[in-house]
Amino acid sequence: MNDVLMNFFDLGQYAQAPLPGNYNHWLVVLSYLVAFIASFTALKIFERAHRHRSFSQQKTWTLITAIVAGIGVWSMHFIGMIAFQLPVMVSHSVGLTLASIVPAVIGNYYAYSLHLSEDRLANFKKTRAQVSLKTNILSGTILGAGIGLMHYMGMEAMQLTPKLLYSPVWFAASILIAVALGIFAMSTYSRSSAIRGAKNELRKIQFVTALIIAAAISGMHYAAMLAARFYPIASTEILPIGSQHQHLWLIYAIVVAVTLIALISWVSSVIDKRFQHNYRAIKQSDKRIRELAFNDALTGLPNRRSLLDYLSQQQQETPENEHLVLFLLDIDKFKVLNNTLGPTLGDLLLQSVTHRLERVALNVHMVARPSSNEFAVVARVQKSNNPVQAQSHALSMAKTLQQELQAPYSLKDYRHQCSMSFGVTVVDSFKKSSEDILVQAALALAEAKRNGMGEIRLYHPEMADAIEKRVKLEAELRQAIETRDGLELYLQPQLDINRQVIGAEALIRWHHSERGMVSPAEFIPLAEETGLIIGLGDLINEQACQIIRQWQQLGLTDLVLSINVSAPQFQQMDFVDKLNSLLKQYEVPAGQLKLELTESVLMQNLDDVIHKIKELKQLGIQFALDDFGTGYSSLSYLMKLPFDVLKIDVSFVRDMFQSVQKEAIVQTIVQLAHNLGLKVVAEGVETEKHFDYLSSLGCDYFQGYLFSKPVAEPDFRKHSKHFK
Ligand code: C2E
Ligand code: MG
Ligand code: MG
Repeated sequence: MNDVLMNFFDLGQYAQAPLPGNYNHWLVVLSYLVAFIASFTALKIFERAHRHRSFSQQKTWTLITAIVAGIGVWSMHFIGMIAFQLPVMVSHSVGLTLASIVPAVIGNYYAYSLHLSEDRLANFKKTRAQVSLKTNILSGTILGAGIGLMHYMGMEAMQLTPKLLYSPVWFAASILIAVALGIFAMSTYSRSSAIRGAKNELRKIQFVTALIIAAAISGMHYAAMLAARFYPIASTEILPIGSQHQHLWLIYAIVVAVTLIALISWVSSVIDKRFQHNYRAIKQSDKRIRELAFNDALTGLPNRRSLLDYLSQQQQETPENEHLVLFLLDIDKFKVLNNTLGPTLGDLLLQSVTHRLERVALNVHMVARPSSNEFAVVARVQKSNNPVQAQSHALSMAKTLQQELQAPYSLKDYRHQCSMSFGVTVVDSFKKSSEDILVQAALALAEAKRNGMGEIRLYHPEMADAIEKRVKLEAELRQAIETRDGLELYLQPQLDINRQVIGAEALIRWHHSERGMVSPAEFIPLAEETGLIIGLGDLINEQACQIIRQWQQLGLTDLVLSINVSAPQFQQMDFVDKLNSLLKQYEVPAGQLKLELTESVLMQNLDDVIHKIKELKQLGIQFALDDFGTGYSSLSYLMKLPFDVLKIDVSFVRDMFQSVQKEAIVQTIVQLAHNLGLKVVAEGVETEKHFDYLSSLGCDYFQGYLFSKPVAEPDFRKHSKHFK
């Protein structure tokens, strides 16, 4: 052991003075520059390793980084060696000289790999944490060790007669410099993790890091050269300094090495450009796809899919003492606004609602737009022993939200006020899937909408039972339509001011085998939602034609039969053709048929609707605007449409005597209709007082329980005789 030490360290075993060395200062400067350029190039190449997702790509780029950096260390060393002149013959063993690059490459490789793996981990966890000090110390030490090992191996490659020994102090100093500056360099570089994306910042960090690495390499080198003592022995031939030329091949090797760095850097920058281009293109389309897939384009809010993702994430992250709450809200009569004021204002309203939701003062965790006119709000409420408390907290949050959202909006120069319906669900179990949560809120919202406008409903489990019932009802209705069993048109007479029956409104009835009579108010909306209304409507139209046919045969040619037509029915492309061929099939004059349309029919494709109305009117069919006054559209707008008759809704007549204003409204409607040449039918006439007042206003026709409830056709004819 002692022998080995004596062979390596200068412990005063040589009495004579070591040979004096001399430096070519230009070459010293050059050596530092080469180290710097190589390090900077290496760091730029290393950037690519960061960018790649695939593990093998990362490894490849790290290896190229290490090779370039290793060449830098190696070239610096041997340029330094050429700069160093001794008064003796010096040559270098080719094998060892070339092999000495290996520790430099390995040291760099491990140092960069360590940095990369931790950086990626931090990035993956999205903690934005920098590479830890521990890792920087470790990687810096490995880097320094690699540089040191390269140096002392390179020194071993020297072939000369004097004995080479190292001063222990300077030896230690050289290693310390390499390791300390190595750690400093890695710590400096690790700042790049935090600024990913800012290119100029990154370049700055790379530049400074390269300066430090170059300092580590050359500092280490020149300190180690201070450690080196060359003691001449007997055979040593002293020559004048500067007379040796045996470095020639080494100079070539260095030139090759530096050229290699330049080449690698050029090739990788070409690859980089192409990659950058693809990368940018991929990133851009990725961003677009993400936006389209997860965000709604109009409001920029997350869509249904991201809401579901978020809910399942929240299910896991909501603390034990809190409940997750989902609010689902819907702008009442939004479709009407869209149709009467145009989609631009509709869009504007949606955006304004989004704005308010995002700024609302409540503790809201997320706002989304799961469907075209629904918004979702995710929040949390405190859990307590009494579950009712959490629910009432959620409800009061809903009320606050509702108040905020129902305040008037100014859309361009239009001031709009709308009501909002709310479905609320307080999640009581961590096991509920996000779909379940959304369904619960949707059920509550549907319940709220059924109860009118501006309502708030909390989900309760019976709502799910209601869904089950609906599904059953739908199946049964489908069956009834297919078998044409139990569906019958009832007739309610319509009379003139002299109580003469002038016709009837056909109202469908469903005789259910178990449930008895099911109200159309219950199954017509269901049929409309499920599309069953098409088949049902065809059945109704046919029955209506059969009734008129019978009237014809009985000579009742003055009676007009009104049938109700739902929006999906009227929107059928072949609605006109189908009705026309039915009239022909039953040889029924079109003049005895009247169609009752509600506002909802006019809500879509108004041009097409008007076109169809005109076509049918040409055949002789009359049109009534049903449920007038319950809708949203302005009166003057509706009255410009080609209707013959206007039906004042049941609710107006019912509430007519509640206030002077309500009486005035009915009066105004009648006047307006008459001014526009329309006849007026009052629905829901239940008392003589109703009849008297409506007659005094000039109402043309009357319909209601005062005269008759809707009844089967033979009963209608009996009644009609009675009134005549
Ligand atoms: P609607 O077309 O407005 O029909 C008037 C409703 O008011 C009928 O209810 C009728 O029975 C009821 N009614 C009549 N007189 C009075 C009265 O004096 N007082 C009160 N309180 N109510 C009165 P019904 O038959 O339950 O129909 C409800 C709705 O179902 C109808 O409203 C209509 O929108 C729809 N409907 C009914 N039959 C059909 C049909 O054959 N096809 C389509 N598409 N819809 C239908
Ligand atoms: Mg009607
Ligand atoms: Mg009506």
